[in-house]
Amino acid sequence: MGETSVVCGAGGFIGGHLVRHLLASGRQVRAVDFKPIENWRQRSPGAENIRADLRNLEDCRRAVRGASFIYNLAADMGGIGFIEANKASCMLNVIINTHLLIAAHEAGARRFLFASSACVYAGDKQTRTAVAPLKESDAYPADPEDGYGWEKLFSERMCRHYREDFGLETRVVRYHNIYGTHETYSGGREKAPAAICRKVAEAKLSSAGEIEIWGDGEQTRSFTYIDDCLRGTELVANGAYSDPVNVGSTEMVSINGLVTIVEEIAGLKLRRRYRLDAPLGVRGRNSDNSLIESLFGWSPAIPLRIGMRALYSWILDRLTPGP
Ligand code: NAD
Repeated sequence: MGETSVVCGAGGFIGGHLVRHLLASGRQVRAVDFKPIENWRQRSPGAENIRADLRNLEDCRRAVRGASFIYNLAADMGGIGFIEANKASCMLNVIINTHLLIAAHEAGARRFLFASSACVYAGDKQTRTAVAPLKESDAYPADPEDGYGWEKLFSERMCRHYREDFGLETRVVRYHNIYGTHETYSGGREKAPAAICRKVAEAKLSSAGEIEIWGDGEQTRSFTYIDDCLRGTELVANGAYSDPVNVGSTEMVSINGLVTIVEEIAGLKLRRRYRLDAPLGVRGRNSDNSLIESLFGWSPAIPLRIGMRALYSWILDRLTPGP
């Protein structure tokens, strides 16, 4: 029998893709989430699929038993609308990562990967739309996103101290806005790329002619396609570098620019209604990829327009009534 990889949060967007990716590369995978398995965003029959509430230490012990590689992608999270309104719930994710570290160390795991976020970066470095790309050292002096970002920063440090004090080989990826098929696109936890694709698709199906945009639409971000994210994750997880590493795109775009891309994909033009009181997050954010390029030669391969085409048609399919 080969070594077991455990994907925590396997019922979610990135976790579901990671399970498939690991299975396709010949790995033996245990997929873990607390949602009923029929509600997972993707299910892979080739994996051992189990339910466990990873806030609970005994469940973490059961989830990682006999495992060599542990990927922690389990978190209560969502887009800016969710994280600004649910700061305590986001901070409670600290229990998941802490109990998983304890269980992974007890189980003698070889590697432990934590999914951190660009939300750890200091707010005062993200105040302009023409923002300087964020390099890993920009997380300090600490001023992360309230709630969600503080938990990620604390958990990054727990990973570091578990490595320094107990010899558990931890790795940390800082994801910058990952998007792609099978992500949440409605219900309040969706992020900008899926929300915009859904709104444009709904407008196309209903001929509504209008789209609501949060803020003035001039805020900037970079978005990373899921396939690039998986490649970057595996390089960091298996590599020798143990401090946090950006996994992000450097193709910065404003939200207005992103709407234009989706309109062009959909073949329509909408009136824009700006909701200035909506949750916004930072004014500008982009990834500096010098570190990951120098360590692994990794850079994103999927241009935004190509990735958004895949996401838009996946969402349009789901919204289109059947025959
Ligand atoms: P997701 O919400 O789709 O998946 C998270 C999964 O964790 C869900 O299926 C959820 O049911 C599960 N989960 C939550 N609490 C649990 C618990 N107590 N026990 C077991 N499972 C539990 O999120 P995602 O987009 O796939 O993100 C995965 C990870 O990457 C998260 O840690 C997230 O913070 C991080 N991240 C994601 C992005 C992004 O753009 N998607 C950006 C930065 C960081």
